[in-house]
Amino acid sequence: MRAARLHKVGDIRLSEEPRPVPGPGESLVRVTAVGLCGSDLHWYSEGGIGDAVLDDPLVVGHEIAGVIEGGPRHGTRVAVDPAIPCGRCGVCATGYGNLCPDVRFAGHGTLDGGLREFLA
Ligand SMILES: [Zn+2]
Ligand SMILES: [Zn+2]
Repeated sequence: MRAARLHKVGDIRLSEEPRPVPGPGESLVRVTAVGLCGSDLHWYSEGGIGDAVLDDPLVVGHEIAGVIEGGPRHGTRVAVDPAIPCGRCGVCATGYGNLCPDVRFAGHGTLDGGLREFLA
């Protein structure tokens, strides 16, 4: 699949990469649209945002829509929540995973985002 990966400030490269393999509880999503957020522009023009800096090449883009590819929900159109709470901490246990201190976020830090053809 094709992926647009930010390598350094002002340097996004389109490359061929393996299609992700969904793990337990995940679906493969064919990305159909990605919004470009202000934070994506910080990644592109400054190589980071806030405390987060670009250490390794990153696929940015966290405003993602797509269609599930394969499995029991094949063909379902989805909007992707880019935040993945840990699911194990006290905050997650209260049901407020959106406030999880260990949340991972697509297109930020080390977790690839949506500027690619498929994501899990
Ligand atoms: Zn945004
Ligand atoms: Zn948590």
